[in-house]
Amino acid sequence: MNYIVTIGLEVHVQLKTGSKMFCACPVEFGAKPNTHTCPICLGLPGALPVMNHEALRMTAMTGLMLGCDVTPICKFDRKNYFYPDMPKNYQISQYDMPLCTNGSVPLHDLAYPKDAQKNIATPGKEVHLVRIHLEEDVAKSFHFENSTGIDFNRAGTPLMEIVTQPEINSPEEAFAFLTALKQILIYGGVSNADMEKGQLRCDCNISVRPEKQTELGAKIEIKNMNSISGVRRALAYEIPRQISLLERGEKLEQETRGWDDAAGETFLMRTKEFAHDYRYFPDPDLLPVKTEALLADVRERVPELPKTKRARFVEQYQVSSYDAAVLANDLELARYFEAAAKGAKKPKNIANWILNDLQNALSAAGKTIDECPIPPEALDELVNLIDSGKISGTQGKEVFAEMFATGKRAAGIVKEKRIEQLSDVSAIEALCDEVIAANPKPVADYKAGNVVSLNFLKGQVMKLSKGNANPQLAGEILERKLKR
Ligand code: ZN
Ligand code: MN
Repeated sequence: MNYIVTIGLEVHVQLKTGSKMFCACPVEFGAKPNTHTCPICLGLPGALPVMNHEALRMTAMTGLMLGCDVTPICKFDRKNYFYPDMPKNYQISQYDMPLCTNGSVPLHDLAYPKDAQKNIATPGKEVHLVRIHLEEDVAKSFHFENSTGIDFNRAGTPLMEIVTQPEINSPEEAFAFLTALKQILIYGGVSNADMEKGQLRCDCNISVRPEKQTELGAKIEIKNMNSISGVRRALAYEIPRQISLLERGEKLEQETRGWDDAAGETFLMRTKEFAHDYRYFPDPDLLPVKTEALLADVRERVPELPKTKRARFVEQYQVSSYDAAVLANDLELARYFEAAAKGAKKPKNIANWILNDLQNALSAAGKTIDECPIPPEALDELVNLIDSGKISGTQGKEVFAEMFATGKRAAGIVKEKRIEQLSDVSAIEALCDEVIAANPKPVADYKAGNVVSLNFLKGQVMKLSKGNANPQLAGEILERKLKR
Protein backbone atom coordinates (compact mmCIF):
# COMPACT_ATOMS: atom_id res chain seq x y z
CA MET A 1 0.00 0.00 0.00
CA ASN A 2 1.16 3.55 -0.68
CA TYR A 3 1.16 6.18 2.01
CA ILE A 4 0.98 9.97 1.93
CA VAL A 5 3.22 11.86 4.30
CA THR A 6 2.24 15.35 5.44
CA ILE A 7 4.67 17.48 7.43
CA GLY A 8 4.23 20.92 8.94
CA LEU A 9 7.01 22.78 10.73
CA GLU A 10 7.06 25.28 13.56
CA VAL A 11 10.36 27.11 13.57
CA HIS A 12 11.52 29.29 16.46
CA VAL A 13 14.13 31.87 15.49
CA GLN A 14 16.19 33.94 17.91
CA LEU A 15 16.37 37.49 16.65
CA LYS A 16 19.69 39.32 16.47
CA THR A 17 18.65 42.27 18.66
CA GLY A 18 21.00 43.95 21.10
CA SER A 19 18.55 43.68 24.00
CA LYS A 20 15.70 41.46 25.19
CA MET A 21 12.06 41.65 24.06
CA PHE A 22 10.57 43.56 26.99
CA CYS A 23 13.54 44.85 28.97
CA ALA A 24 16.97 46.40 28.40
CA CYS A 25 19.05 43.34 29.35
CA PRO A 26 21.60 42.46 26.66
CA VAL A 27 21.19 39.40 24.44
CA GLU A 28 24.46 37.52 24.47
CA PHE A 29 25.13 33.85 23.76
CA GLY A 30 27.51 32.07 26.11
CA ALA A 31 27.60 34.74 28.85
CA LYS A 32 28.10 33.65 32.47
CA PRO A 33 24.75 32.26 33.73
CA ASN A 34 22.29 34.72 35.28
CA THR A 35 24.34 37.83 34.55
CA HIS A 36 21.81 39.36 32.10
CA THR A 37 18.69 39.59 34.20
CA CYS A 38 16.42 42.25 35.73
CA PRO A 39 13.05 42.35 37.52
CA ILE A 40 11.22 42.29 34.15
CA CYS A 41 12.81 39.17 32.65
CA LEU A 42 12.82 37.44 36.05
CA GLY A 43 9.07 38.03 36.18
CA LEU A 44 9.13 39.78 39.56
CA PRO A 45 5.76 41.17 40.69
CA GLY A 46 5.00 44.71 39.55
CA ALA A 47 7.63 44.84 36.78
CA LEU A 48 6.31 46.30 33.52
CA PRO A 49 7.37 45.17 30.03
CA VAL A 50 8.47 47.68 27.38
CA MET A 51 8.40 46.59 23.73
CA ASN A 52 11.60 46.20 21.74
CA HIS A 53 10.94 48.03 18.45
CA GLU A 54 13.90 46.48 16.68
CA ALA A 55 12.42 43.01 17.27
CA LEU A 56 9.15 44.22 15.74
CA ARG A 57 11.04 45.63 12.75
CA MET A 58 12.99 42.39 12.26
CA THR A 59 9.79 40.35 12.32
CA ALA A 60 8.15 42.75 9.84
CA MET A 61 11.30 42.48 7.69
CA THR A 62 11.01 38.68 7.71
CA GLY A 63 7.37 39.04 6.71
CA LEU A 64 8.25 41.29 3.78
CA MET A 65 11.07 38.99 2.65
CA LEU A 66 8.74 35.98 2.69
CA GLY A 67 5.87 37.76 0.93
CA CYS A 68 3.60 37.72 4.00
CA ASP A 69 0.67 40.01 4.73
CA VAL A 70 1.81 42.28 7.53
CA THR A 71 -1.18 43.23 9.64
CA PRO A 72 -1.97 46.95 10.20
CA ILE A 73 -2.41 46.27 13.94
CA CYS A 74 -0.94 43.46 16.01
CA LYS A 75 -1.16 42.75 19.71
CA PHE A 76 0.49 40.68 22.41
CA ASP A 77 -1.26 38.06 24.51
CA ARG A 78 -0.45 36.00 27.55
CA LYS A 79 -0.14 32.28 26.97
CA ASN A 80 -0.65 30.67 30.36
CA TYR A 81 1.04 27.44 31.31
CA PHE A 82 3.45 26.15 33.91
CA TYR A 83 7.04 25.53 32.96
CA PRO A 84 9.89 25.31 35.48
CA ASP A 85 12.08 27.75 33.56
CA MET A 86 9.36 30.29 32.79
CA PRO A 87 9.27 32.67 35.75
CA LYS A 88 5.93 34.43 35.12
CA ASN A 89 3.97 31.22 34.46
CA TYR A 90 2.86 32.79 31.24
CA GLN A 91 4.68 33.58 28.02
CA ILE A 92 4.06 36.83 26.20
CA SER A 93 3.19 35.78 22.67
CA GLN A 94 0.75 36.70 19.91
CA TYR A 95 -2.51 34.80 19.59
CA ASP A 96 -5.21 36.05 17.23
CA MET A 97 -3.45 39.12 15.86
CA PRO A 98 0.04 38.00 14.80
CA LEU A 99 2.34 40.41 12.99
CA CYS A 100 2.40 38.41 9.73
CA THR A 101 0.18 35.88 7.97
CA ASN A 102 0.53 33.89 4.71
CA GLY A 103 3.71 34.17 2.61
CA SER A 104 5.99 31.35 1.49
CA VAL A 105 9.53 30.02 1.37
CA PRO A 106 10.84 29.03 -2.09
CA LEU A 107 12.88 25.81 -2.00
CA HIS A 108 15.93 26.05 -4.19
CA ASP A 109 16.86 22.77 -5.86
CA LEU A 110 20.43 23.10 -4.58
CA ALA A 111 19.18 23.58 -0.99
CA TYR A 112 18.33 19.86 -0.87
CA PRO A 113 20.84 17.46 0.67
CA LYS A 114 23.35 16.51 -2.04
CA ASP A 115 22.40 12.84 -2.23
CA ALA A 116 18.74 13.77 -2.79
CA GLN A 117 19.25 16.37 -5.51
CA LYS A 118 18.69 13.96 -8.35
CA ASN A 119 15.25 12.82 -7.13
CA ILE A 120 13.55 16.09 -6.32
CA ALA A 121 9.81 15.40 -6.54
CA THR A 122 8.70 18.98 -7.22
CA PRO A 123 11.44 21.23 -8.58
CA GLY A 124 11.18 24.88 -7.51
CA LYS A 125 8.52 24.08 -4.89
CA GLU A 126 7.27 26.75 -2.49
CA VAL A 127 6.11 25.97 1.02
CA HIS A 128 3.36 28.31 2.19
CA LEU A 129 3.24 29.78 5.67
CA VAL A 130 0.35 30.13 8.09
CA ARG A 131 1.79 32.91 10.21
CA ILE A 132 4.80 34.55 11.82
CA HIS A 133 4.48 35.92 15.32
CA LEU A 134 6.74 37.41 17.93
CA GLU A 135 7.13 36.15 21.48
CA GLU A 136 9.65 35.84 24.29
CA ASP A 137 11.93 32.88 24.94
CA VAL A 138 12.05 31.01 28.25
CA ALA A 139 15.10 30.44 30.44
CA LYS A 140 17.30 27.40 30.00
CA SER A 141 17.60 24.44 32.37
CA PHE A 142 20.81 22.52 32.88
CA HIS A 143 20.49 19.09 34.44
CA PHE A 144 23.41 18.00 36.59
CA GLU A 145 23.85 14.70 38.39
CA ASN A 146 21.79 15.56 41.46
CA SER A 147 20.39 18.97 40.71
CA THR A 148 19.10 21.29 38.03
CA GLY A 149 20.29 24.83 37.40
CA ILE A 150 18.39 27.50 35.52
CA ASP A 151 20.05 30.23 33.45
CA PHE A 152 17.78 33.25 33.04
CA ASN A 153 19.99 34.97 30.48
CA ARG A 154 17.80 33.57 27.73
CA ALA A 155 14.51 34.40 29.50
CA GLY A 156 12.70 37.18 27.69
CA THR A 157 14.91 37.24 24.59
CA PRO A 158 12.98 37.91 21.35
CA LEU A 159 11.78 34.80 19.56
CA MET A 160 10.05 34.74 16.21
CA GLU A 161 7.84 31.75 15.46
CA ILE A 162 7.28 30.73 11.84
CA VAL A 163 4.50 28.20 11.19
CA THR A 164 4.19 26.45 7.82
CA GLN A 165 1.18 24.93 6.13
CA PRO A 166 1.33 21.12 6.16
CA GLU A 167 2.81 21.10 2.67
CA ILE A 168 6.12 19.34 3.21
CA ASN A 169 6.10 15.78 1.90
CA SER A 170 9.52 14.29 2.66
CA PRO A 171 12.50 14.58 5.02
CA GLU A 172 14.45 16.07 2.08
CA GLU A 173 11.88 18.83 1.58
CA ALA A 174 12.03 19.65 5.30
CA PHE A 175 15.81 19.91 4.96
CA ALA A 176 15.50 22.14 1.89
CA PHE A 177 12.91 24.32 3.62
CA LEU A 178 15.13 24.95 6.65
CA THR A 179 18.21 25.54 4.49
CA ALA A 180 16.37 28.07 2.32
CA LEU A 181 14.75 29.80 5.30
CA LYS A 182 18.04 30.04 7.18
CA GLN A 183 19.67 31.72 4.18
CA ILE A 184 16.89 34.29 3.89
CA LEU A 185 17.06 35.09 7.63
CA ILE A 186 20.81 35.65 7.35
CA TYR A 187 20.35 37.83 4.24
CA GLY A 188 17.85 39.99 6.13
CA GLY A 189 20.20 40.37 9.11
CA VAL A 190 17.39 39.23 11.43
CA SER A 191 19.16 36.19 12.87
CA ASN A 192 22.40 34.27 12.55
CA ALA A 193 20.16 31.18 12.51
CA ASP A 194 22.96 29.08 13.98
CA MET A 195 21.25 25.87 15.05
CA GLU A 196 24.19 24.79 17.18
CA LYS A 197 23.64 27.87 19.32
CA GLY A 198 19.91 27.18 19.49
CA GLN A 199 19.17 30.22 17.33
CA LEU A 200 16.90 28.16 15.12
CA ARG A 201 14.84 25.38 16.69
CA CYS A 202 12.32 23.24 14.98
CA ASP A 203 9.23 21.21 15.87
CA CYS A 204 7.79 18.86 13.23
CA ASN A 205 4.19 17.71 12.92
CA ILE A 206 3.95 14.51 10.92
CA SER A 207 0.97 12.62 9.75
CA VAL A 208 0.92 9.50 7.61
CA ARG A 209 -2.16 8.07 5.92
CA PRO A 210 -2.95 5.41 3.31
CA GLU A 211 -3.21 6.88 -0.18
CA LYS A 212 -6.93 6.29 -0.52
CA GLN A 213 -7.83 7.85 2.85
CA THR A 214 -8.84 11.52 2.52
CA GLU A 215 -8.67 12.76 6.13
CA LEU A 216 -5.21 13.34 7.64
CA GLY A 217 -3.76 10.67 9.90
CA ALA A 218 -3.00 11.26 13.60
CA LYS A 219 -0.71 14.22 14.20
CA ILE A 220 2.54 13.16 15.80
CA GLU A 221 4.87 15.91 16.89
CA ILE A 222 8.66 15.73 17.25
CA LYS A 223 9.83 18.50 19.55
CA ASN A 224 12.86 20.74 19.69
CA MET A 225 15.28 19.59 17.05
CA ASN A 226 18.44 21.60 16.82
CA SER A 227 20.11 20.70 13.55
CA ILE A 228 18.88 20.67 9.97
CA SER A 229 20.33 17.23 9.31
CA GLY A 230 18.83 16.07 12.63
CA VAL A 231 15.38 17.08 11.36
CA ARG A 232 15.96 15.09 8.20
CA ARG A 233 17.15 12.03 10.09
CA ALA A 234 14.33 12.24 12.66
CA LEU A 235 11.75 12.34 9.86
CA ALA A 236 13.49 9.53 7.97
CA TYR A 237 13.20 7.44 11.15
CA GLU A 238 9.69 8.48 12.12
CA ILE A 239 7.88 8.04 8.79
CA PRO A 240 8.69 4.31 8.31
CA ARG A 241 7.99 3.74 12.02
CA GLN A 242 4.47 5.11 11.62
CA ILE A 243 3.91 3.24 8.36
CA SER A 244 4.97 -0.07 9.87
CA LEU A 245 2.52 0.44 12.77
CA LEU A 246 -0.29 1.08 10.28
CA GLU A 247 0.74 -1.99 8.27
CA ARG A 248 0.40 -4.10 11.40
CA GLY A 249 -3.15 -2.82 11.76
CA GLU A 250 -2.37 -0.61 14.75
CA LYS A 251 -3.96 2.78 15.24
CA LEU A 252 -1.77 5.89 15.54
CA GLU A 253 -2.59 8.26 18.37
CA GLN A 254 -1.75 11.92 18.65
CA GLU A 255 1.45 12.19 20.68
CA THR A 256 4.57 14.20 21.30
CA ARG A 257 7.96 12.61 20.75
CA GLY A 258 11.57 13.61 21.25
CA TRP A 259 14.60 12.95 19.04
CA ASP A 260 17.65 11.17 20.41
CA ASP A 261 20.33 12.27 17.99
CA ALA A 262 23.01 9.89 19.27
CA ALA A 263 20.76 6.82 19.13
CA GLY A 264 19.13 7.98 15.88
CA GLU A 265 15.65 7.30 17.27
CA THR A 266 12.54 9.19 18.29
CA PHE A 267 11.03 8.39 21.71
CA LEU A 268 7.63 8.95 23.30
CA MET A 269 7.41 12.01 25.55
CA ARG A 270 3.70 12.29 26.18
CA THR A 271 0.35 11.34 24.69
CA LYS A 272 -2.15 14.16 24.43
CA GLU A 273 -5.28 12.96 26.15
CA PHE A 274 -6.83 16.41 26.04
CA ALA A 275 -5.80 19.60 24.30
CA HIS A 276 -3.95 22.20 26.34
CA ASP A 277 -5.96 25.24 27.33
CA TYR A 278 -3.56 28.14 27.41
CA ARG A 279 -6.25 30.65 28.50
CA TYR A 280 -4.88 33.28 26.12
CA PHE A 281 -5.88 36.87 26.87
CA PRO A 282 -4.51 40.24 25.72
CA ASP A 283 -1.56 41.37 27.81
CA PRO A 284 -2.95 44.35 29.77
CA ASP A 285 0.55 45.87 30.10
CA LEU A 286 1.14 46.15 26.36
CA LEU A 287 -0.82 48.27 23.90
CA PRO A 288 -1.64 46.97 20.42
CA VAL A 289 0.91 48.09 17.82
CA LYS A 290 0.17 49.99 14.61
CA THR A 291 2.65 48.63 12.11
CA GLU A 292 2.52 51.39 9.46
CA ALA A 293 5.49 53.37 10.80
CA LEU A 294 7.53 50.20 11.32
CA LEU A 295 6.89 49.10 7.76
CA ALA A 296 7.89 52.41 6.22
CA ASP A 297 11.20 52.01 8.01
CA VAL A 298 11.71 48.38 7.07
CA ARG A 299 10.68 48.50 3.40
CA GLU A 300 13.82 50.43 2.54
CA ARG A 301 16.02 47.82 4.15
CA VAL A 302 14.63 44.71 2.46
CA PRO A 303 17.69 43.13 0.82
CA GLU A 304 17.93 41.41 -2.53
CA LEU A 305 16.85 37.84 -1.77
CA PRO A 306 18.90 34.71 -2.50
CA LYS A 307 16.67 33.62 -5.39
CA THR A 308 16.88 37.03 -7.10
CA LYS A 309 20.61 37.25 -6.52
CA ARG A 310 21.21 33.84 -8.10
CA ALA A 311 19.18 34.77 -11.17
CA ARG A 312 21.00 38.11 -11.47
CA PHE A 313 24.43 36.47 -11.23
CA VAL A 314 23.57 34.15 -14.10
CA GLU A 315 22.18 37.00 -16.19
CA GLN A 316 24.70 39.74 -15.39
CA TYR A 317 27.91 37.71 -15.12
CA GLN A 318 27.15 34.67 -17.27
CA VAL A 319 28.09 32.23 -14.52
CA SER A 320 26.40 28.80 -14.39
CA SER A 321 23.36 28.41 -12.12
CA TYR A 322 25.39 26.06 -9.96
CA ASP A 323 28.20 28.61 -9.51
CA ALA A 324 25.65 31.35 -8.86
CA ALA A 325 24.10 29.19 -6.14
CA VAL A 326 27.43 28.50 -4.46
CA LEU A 327 28.39 32.18 -4.57
CA ALA A 328 25.00 33.35 -3.28
CA ASN A 329 25.01 30.74 -0.50
CA ASP A 330 27.34 32.96 1.45
CA LEU A 331 26.55 36.66 1.50
CA GLU A 332 30.19 37.62 2.07
CA LEU A 333 31.37 35.42 -0.78
CA ALA A 334 28.71 36.96 -3.05
CA ARG A 335 29.91 40.46 -2.08
CA TYR A 336 33.51 39.51 -2.75
CA PHE A 337 32.61 38.06 -6.16
CA GLU A 338 30.70 41.18 -7.19
CA ALA A 339 33.49 43.49 -6.07
CA ALA A 340 35.99 41.48 -8.13
CA ALA A 341 33.73 40.88 -11.12
CA LYS A 342 32.18 44.30 -11.61
CA GLY A 343 34.91 45.57 -13.95
CA ALA A 344 36.06 42.21 -15.27
CA LYS A 345 35.96 41.32 -18.96
CA LYS A 346 35.28 37.66 -18.19
CA PRO A 347 33.48 37.52 -14.84
CA LYS A 348 33.07 33.76 -15.27
CA ASN A 349 36.86 33.37 -14.89
CA ILE A 350 36.70 35.38 -11.65
CA ALA A 351 34.02 32.99 -10.38
CA ASN A 352 36.23 30.00 -11.26
CA TRP A 353 39.17 31.43 -9.34
CA ILE A 354 37.02 32.17 -6.30
CA LEU A 355 35.27 28.80 -6.27
CA ASN A 356 38.43 26.77 -6.80
CA ASP A 357 41.77 28.28 -5.86
CA LEU A 358 40.58 30.96 -3.46
CA GLN A 359 38.19 28.73 -1.51
CA ASN A 360 40.78 25.95 -1.31
CA ALA A 361 43.43 28.37 -0.07
CA LEU A 362 41.03 29.86 2.49
CA SER A 363 39.99 26.50 3.87
CA ALA A 364 43.61 25.28 3.99
CA ALA A 365 44.52 28.41 5.96
CA GLY A 366 41.42 28.13 8.16
CA LYS A 367 40.31 31.59 7.11
CA THR A 368 36.89 32.97 6.21
CA ILE A 369 36.30 35.18 3.18
CA ASP A 370 36.31 38.29 5.46
CA GLU A 371 39.89 37.46 6.39
CA CYS A 372 40.98 36.88 2.80
CA PRO A 373 44.47 38.38 2.26
CA ILE A 374 43.69 39.08 -1.41
CA PRO A 375 41.33 42.04 -1.86
CA PRO A 376 38.71 41.51 -4.63
CA GLU A 377 40.22 44.09 -7.02
CA ALA A 378 43.61 42.34 -6.69
CA LEU A 379 42.06 39.06 -7.82
CA ASP A 380 40.59 40.87 -10.83
CA GLU A 381 44.11 42.18 -11.68
CA LEU A 382 45.54 38.66 -11.55
CA VAL A 383 42.80 37.21 -13.74
CA ASN A 384 43.37 40.06 -16.20
CA LEU A 385 47.10 39.24 -16.45
CA ILE A 386 46.18 35.66 -17.36
CA ASP A 387 43.30 36.51 -19.70
CA SER A 388 45.43 38.98 -21.62
CA GLY A 389 48.20 36.40 -22.11
CA LYS A 390 50.86 38.26 -20.07
CA ILE A 391 51.31 35.24 -17.83
CA SER A 392 50.16 31.64 -18.31
CA GLY A 393 47.59 29.84 -16.20
CA THR A 394 50.33 27.83 -14.48
CA GLN A 395 52.27 31.01 -13.71
CA GLY A 396 48.99 32.49 -12.49
CA LYS A 397 48.77 29.77 -9.84
CA GLU A 398 52.28 30.58 -8.65
CA VAL A 399 51.49 34.31 -8.49
CA PHE A 400 48.21 33.55 -6.71
CA ALA A 401 49.98 31.52 -4.01
CA GLU A 402 52.42 34.40 -3.45
CA MET A 403 49.57 36.92 -3.28
CA PHE A 404 47.74 34.77 -0.75
CA ALA A 405 50.84 34.32 1.41
CA THR A 406 52.12 37.91 1.32
CA GLY A 407 49.17 40.14 0.37
CA LYS A 408 51.27 41.61 -2.47
CA ARG A 409 49.68 42.61 -5.78
CA ALA A 410 50.06 40.44 -8.90
CA ALA A 411 51.89 43.03 -11.05
CA GLY A 412 54.57 43.52 -8.36
CA ILE A 413 55.14 39.76 -7.99
CA VAL A 414 55.39 39.26 -11.75
CA LYS A 415 57.98 42.03 -12.00
CA GLU A 416 59.95 40.97 -8.94
CA LYS A 417 60.13 37.31 -9.97
CA ARG A 418 60.54 38.10 -13.67
CA ILE A 419 57.58 35.88 -14.45
CA GLU A 420 56.63 36.23 -18.05
CA GLN A 421 54.77 34.06 -20.43
CA LEU A 422 57.00 32.59 -23.08
CA SER A 423 55.66 34.20 -26.27
CA ASP A 424 58.88 34.17 -28.26
CA VAL A 425 58.00 32.40 -31.51
CA SER A 426 61.42 30.90 -32.24
CA ALA A 427 61.76 29.60 -28.66
CA ILE A 428 58.35 27.93 -28.85
CA GLU A 429 59.21 26.56 -32.30
CA ALA A 430 62.28 24.87 -30.83
CA LEU A 431 60.15 23.30 -28.10
CA CYS A 432 57.63 22.11 -30.68
CA ASP A 433 60.36 20.50 -32.79
CA GLU A 434 61.62 18.66 -29.74
CA VAL A 435 58.14 17.37 -28.88
CA ILE A 436 57.43 16.31 -32.47
CA ALA A 437 60.71 14.37 -32.62
CA ALA A 438 60.03 12.63 -29.30
CA ASN A 439 56.42 11.60 -30.05
CA PRO A 440 56.22 9.93 -33.48
CA LYS A 441 53.04 7.97 -32.65
CA PRO A 442 50.77 10.92 -31.68
CA VAL A 443 52.26 12.87 -34.59
CA ALA A 444 51.30 10.11 -37.00
CA ASP A 445 47.85 9.85 -35.40
CA TYR A 446 47.28 13.55 -35.86
CA LYS A 447 48.40 13.41 -39.45
CA ALA A 448 46.01 10.48 -39.96
CA GLY A 449 43.13 12.71 -38.85
CA ASN A 450 42.96 12.23 -35.07
CA VAL A 451 42.65 15.89 -34.01
CA VAL A 452 42.66 15.03 -30.31
CA SER A 453 46.35 14.10 -30.57
CA LEU A 454 47.17 17.76 -31.05
CA ASN A 455 46.03 18.47 -27.49
CA PHE A 456 48.40 15.80 -26.22
CA LEU A 457 51.31 17.32 -28.14
CA LYS A 458 50.37 20.80 -26.92
CA GLY A 459 50.39 19.44 -23.38
CA GLN A 460 53.90 18.11 -23.93
CA VAL A 461 55.10 21.54 -25.14
CA MET A 462 53.56 23.17 -22.05
CA LYS A 463 55.24 20.57 -19.84
CA LEU A 464 58.59 21.11 -21.50
CA SER A 465 58.29 24.88 -20.98
CA LYS A 466 57.37 24.26 -17.31
CA GLY A 467 54.00 25.87 -17.97
CA ASN A 468 55.55 29.09 -19.21
CA ALA A 469 54.73 28.86 -22.92
CA ASN A 470 51.79 30.78 -24.33
CA PRO A 471 49.40 27.85 -24.90
CA GLN A 472 47.58 29.47 -27.78
CA LEU A 473 50.81 30.18 -29.62
CA ALA A 474 52.09 26.66 -28.94
CA GLY A 475 48.92 25.24 -30.49
CA GLU A 476 49.20 27.43 -33.58
CA ILE A 477 52.86 26.58 -34.18
CA LEU A 478 52.26 22.83 -33.75
CA GLU A 479 49.37 22.96 -36.17
CA ARG A 480 51.45 24.81 -38.73
CA LYS A 481 54.35 22.38 -38.39
CA LEU A 482 52.14 19.31 -38.68
CA LYS A 483 50.07 20.61 -41.55
CA ARG A 484 49.07 17.75 -43.75
ZN1 ZN B 1 15.81 41.90 31.83
MN1 MN C 1 6.30 29.45 20.34
